[in-house]
Amino acid sequence: MIRLQTPLPERYTTATVDENHARIETAKATLGERLFVLGHHYQRDEVMRWADARGDSYRLSVLAQERPEAEFIVFCGVHFMAESADVLTDDHQQVILPDLNAGCSMADMADLDEVEEAWEALATVIDIEQVVPITYMNSSAALKSFVGQHGGAVCTSTNARAILEWALTKDAAPVPDLSVADAEVATIVADARARGRKVLFFPDQHLGRNTGIAMGFAHDDMRVWNPRFELGGLTEADCKEATFLLWKGHCSVHQRFRPEHVEAFRAEHPEGLVVVHPECAHDVCAVADQVGSTDYIIKAVAAAPPGATIAVGTEIHLVQRLADETPDKTVVSLDPLICPCSTMFRIDAAHLAWVLENLVEGTVVNQIHVDADTRHWARVALQRMLDITAAAPDPSPSLQAPRRPTGD
Ligand code: SF4
Repeated sequence: MIRLQTPLPERYTTATVDENHARIETAKATLGERLFVLGHHYQRDEVMRWADARGDSYRLSVLAQERPEAEFIVFCGVHFMAESADVLTDDHQQVILPDLNAGCSMADMADLDEVEEAWEALATVIDIEQVVPITYMNSSAALKSFVGQHGGAVCTSTNARAILEWALTKDAAPVPDLSVADAEVATIVADARARGRKVLFFPDQHLGRNTGIAMGFAHDDMRVWNPRFELGGLTEADCKEATFLLWKGHCSVHQRFRPEHVEAFRAEHPEGLVVVHPECAHDVCAVADQVGSTDYIIKAVAAAPPGATIAVGTEIHLVQRLADETPDKTVVSLDPLICPCSTMFRIDAAHLAWVLENLVEGTVVNQIHVDADTRHWARVALQRMLDITAAAPDPSPSLQAPRRPTGD
């Protein structure tokens, strides 16, 4: 992806943080209800203090959609998040990313050309009608549009399990007399294998793998699709046998966490709790106490008893904020070495002041605009996700049953 952030004028780069804060405060007051500033959980505090709403990427986009009076949505996050907000908001709303260089390394690991090539290659060896493409929220609008056009859906780390269960069972004959959850899971697994139903999941292999395993599938049901190689580096038999074709992508922040970090934390804090994000590798999730999305992690920390020590496996700004806002508990990063999202970190008070003062002067800089066709199909994929999640009997925020529930 080409990004074209122009250098900021000197008056912002040479200003103190306090001077830029004063500019932001004045600009926000001037723009009033016309402006809505969104702050992703992983943003630094000097930006977060100006956010009108905090949340994960999907929740923030929905909040923007629910604010039609806001003409300007300033998304303090990364590029794919601003695209999603543009897809979901009305035409009269303009979405702005304070630094165009704020991308997501994971989202950039799958582009439309590569996914289209993968789709065509798979069609030569398996029944492509049995393949449902699922893209993680952390992907470009072009990929969301692709899955919308090909009968798939978007998922978040919160609802990945409900979306994958839908993908593997859609168009299947109803299963009679299922009354216990285990029987249901076993049936989904057996039925998907028997019918040759498959999911092409991109761009994060870890979320796909962790969710599939939580559903009862085995590692043998999964293959990693490497877009650098012909047929993803797989054999025809691999493609036929796999239920999950997992794109070779990952989050550079979450892949840093290792099982050794869990071991070291437990050696020091035998009663401590380990909560990690499902973008972590499976060997980490397998030994953590709880696995869930950023919203789940926030709830898990809140639910822990006073005095608890909790190691969190996610981006450091969220961990530090949880530590600051939960003084009756000890919240630490699972990795003692700091692991920030370096692209999210590009957005600072200077960039925020720059875009807001431009808006006050009537100039929209750094608008993120998704073309009408891409937007239409991306909305189809997002709407499918909403419909599936709304219909799920228990759209649990937890990826899997906690091995060690909060409070134990
Ligand atoms: S934390 Fe990882 S997935 Fe999230 S925006 Fe940063 S690089 Fe992308």
